[in-house]
Amino acid sequence: HPVIGVLALQGDTAEHVRVLEDLGVTGTEVRRRADLDAIDGLILPGGESTTMSKLAARYELLEPLRKHIGGGMPVYGTCAGMILLADRLLDEAEGQQSIGGIDMTVRRNAFGRQTESFEAPVAIDGIGEEPLEAIFIRAPWVESVADGVTVLGSVTRGGHAGRIVAVRQGPLLATSFHPELTGDTRVHRLFVDMVKGQAYS
Ligand code: GLN
Repeated sequence: HPVIGVLALQGDTAEHVRVLEDLGVTGTEVRRRADLDAIDGLILPGGESTTMSKLAARYELLEPLRKHIGGGMPVYGTCAGMILLADRLLDEAEGQQSIGGIDMTVRRNAFGRQTESFEAPVAIDGIGEEPLEAIFIRAPWVESVADGVTVLGSVTRGGHAGRIVAVRQGPLLATSFHPELTGDTRVHRLFVDMVKGQAYS
């Protein structure tokens, strides 16, 4: 029975904990480095990535997070969390740092101002045929990925068709959108299965 942490510095932590509990998994808030030793996997929620990274730096979490990721801890980042998992950023804020882990370039606030929030169906490899109704809130997209990163989903229609919005590299998963806000638990279920499959501790 895995315990999955949700980084609780800023952002929509509670929604992720609720989805985990709905799936019968223990979800626990992570605020300090010792919390990282008590979890089998971690979710980095949506919110504001600059604020989150500054708080993570202040609470001396950046290096421990990098160490755990380097050691194979499964991590799922949504939106701001995707930004934190990117090895390279475009349009980052002054002084913004990422944690890194996925060999990809992510563009912040990529979908632009007019479309700060929108919904679109996205088909995601590994969660079944039925597209997920994805919610994008001032979302990033994945500008490019290196070999070794699997693209799981892209926008299928409209002006942003083809933009990558879901990726996986080994035990690391990231989406531009917020499945925790939809009641569709399939992406979280995929992550829980990744955690169960990864003998990490
Ligand atoms: N625009 C935000 C950022 O740069 C991300 C928005 C979100 O997480 N919904 O961090």
